[in-house]
Amino acid sequence: MTHLLHRSIHGRLPVAVGGKGIHLFDADGKSYIDASGGAAVSCLGHNHPEVQAALHAQLDRLAYAHTSFFTTQVAEELADRLIADAPAALEHVYLVSGGSEAVEAALKMARQYFVEKGEPQRRHIIARRQSYHGNTLGVLATGGNEWRRARFLPLLIETHHIAPCFAYRGQREGESDGDYARRAAGELEAKILELGADQVMAFVAETVVGATAGAVPPVADYFRHIRRICDKYGVLLILDEVMCGMGRTGTLHACEQDGIAPDLMTIAKGLGGGYQPVGAVLLSGRIFEAFAQGSGYFQHGHTYAGHPMAAAASLAVQTILKRDGLLDNVRTMGDALHAGLVQRFADHPHVGDIRGRGLFRAVELVQDRSSKTPFDAGLKLHARIKKEAMARGLMVYPMGGTIDGQNGDHVLIAPPFIVAQTD
Ligand code: PLP
Repeated sequence: MTHLLHRSIHGRLPVAVGGKGIHLFDADGKSYIDASGGAAVSCLGHNHPEVQAALHAQLDRLAYAHTSFFTTQVAEELADRLIADAPAALEHVYLVSGGSEAVEAALKMARQYFVEKGEPQRRHIIARRQSYHGNTLGVLATGGNEWRRARFLPLLIETHHIAPCFAYRGQREGESDGDYARRAAGELEAKILELGADQVMAFVAETVVGATAGAVPPVADYFRHIRRICDKYGVLLILDEVMCGMGRTGTLHACEQDGIAPDLMTIAKGLGGGYQPVGAVLLSGRIFEAFAQGSGYFQHGHTYAGHPMAAAASLAVQTILKRDGLLDNVRTMGDALHAGLVQRFADHPHVGDIRGRGLFRAVELVQDRSSKTPFDAGLKLHARIKKEAMARGLMVYPMGGTIDGQNGDHVLIAPPFIVAQTD
């Protein structure tokens, strides 16, 4: 009997005791290939000596200072670095401790922006089904994963959901990418008009959908239409790049490949690569200006926001990513991974789709390829795949379909950016 409440109460987990590069080691001396970066977190792999050195140095300088009393050089430097490499519209950084906190903060920024601007009636959030934005109550409401939401529905704030852009499941027979992009984005316009154009505050979407549907990129031009619709109705666009951002798809920000920039962007996992709990919101100059000319502050704050150790880890990870040209490796190895998956599984009777960008790939499993029927959720196929893979010393990130049968089980593969052909 353990006193630690684990994610699952039944079953025993191996005890992780060490790591090196793309490998993790357990207390029995067994080695695992981390082909999922945990949950798409460990972008530099494990125990990178330079990140360790940066953390030791920061610990020797200062571990903690509360952001209502002080700023720190390391947090300032990280913010400068993030903005230097961000889309031009994004000019400021708000540092938090993880992905859920980042999306929560972004939603509150959107709301406060409209309060400062004298449009307090704007309160509706529109998001997409088959999305995940975190587990705290505010963002659980925004997410569209029914399995995660079901038990907590009575506690969730009102949110409105539209269909995601999910070509494998949503694109009609014979429909061009262009027509599908327009139709899928058109759902946003219809929803804004239904709720009242001056009542909607923000649209939230993962640029490339992660855990819920499995590395689903939008079709070309989808986000250009979304950007245009948001601008037309004065709705803020929040892109959640907690999982797909910070290089995972082969560009620092996934939305670079879609040719648009959001008003608010959330990042987390690859920001600190797992070396510290960290997340951030990148916000546009106009949101910052509304706060500056209005109340003069963002009414929010967590005890560990802007933590110096988290900032030091993130700065080291981002410095190494750039210096070592790892985005090139993400693109090259991502193409190789995709080609390998296609070669091995394209004809498999239970593989419905192989998709993704960069080192963010997924295989969707179906009972029947022609009807795309998912496996019965009761089979818990994803859990069995995870167990079998772990038994063989391999970490992948399988997930079940949503309970409304809108997508099947999938296996997400998101190895560290340092992975090589020879691994
Ligand atoms: N947003 C997305 C897209 C995510 O994938 C996740 C986590 O998987 C979150 C938000 C929540 O992040 P965290 O688990 O760090 O709170």
